Amino acid sequence: MNWQSGDGRHEGFAAIIVPDGGEVAAVQGATLILEAGPRLPASETLGWRSRCTCGWMAPLMFQRVTDPDAMRMAHQVLDLEGGSAPPEVEETCHAEWLEHIRQDYGIEAVRQAAAASRAAERSLEEAVKGARAGGHSWTEIGEAIGISRQSAHERWRGLAADQ
Ligand SMILES: [Zn+2]
Repeated sequence: MNWQSGDGRHEGFAAIIVPDGGEVAAVQGATLILEAGPRLPASETLGWRSRCTCGWMAPLMFQRVTDPDAMRMAHQVLDLEGGSAPPEVEETCHAEWLEHIRQDYGIEAVRQAAAASRAAERSLEEAVKGARAGGHSWTEIGEAIGISRQSAHERWRGLAADQ
């Protein structure tokens, strides 16, 4: 099962990890079909790892173990069949992916706000240029912005229309 972010920029999934780094394209019963064509028995599954189409992957993979009597460490999961991630692994991979999305959008919000701020700066510059061309004084412009006549003049005196 895949998870999508609202804007389609991210699609996450619990990737099946197989030997030699092959990409599993599909699971058919107890057979893994690799992207490159060959098939592997599901019993070759090494584990699972949360991944995203943007290139992100979780720092740790869940390692599949098949001996019910062996001591299991964190990130080791008993799973006899192999293939798709067991539900609890799928759930944890999803949670890891959601955290990846949350962090990405934190930075994305800054990116968007910075772009909006630059656009606002340009439109203010255009407006000041227009007001100067229309004969308004630096006092009037300063008042309109909420700064002093002198600050307005210092900030925009270099504008083409003022020379
Ligand atoms: Zn992503």
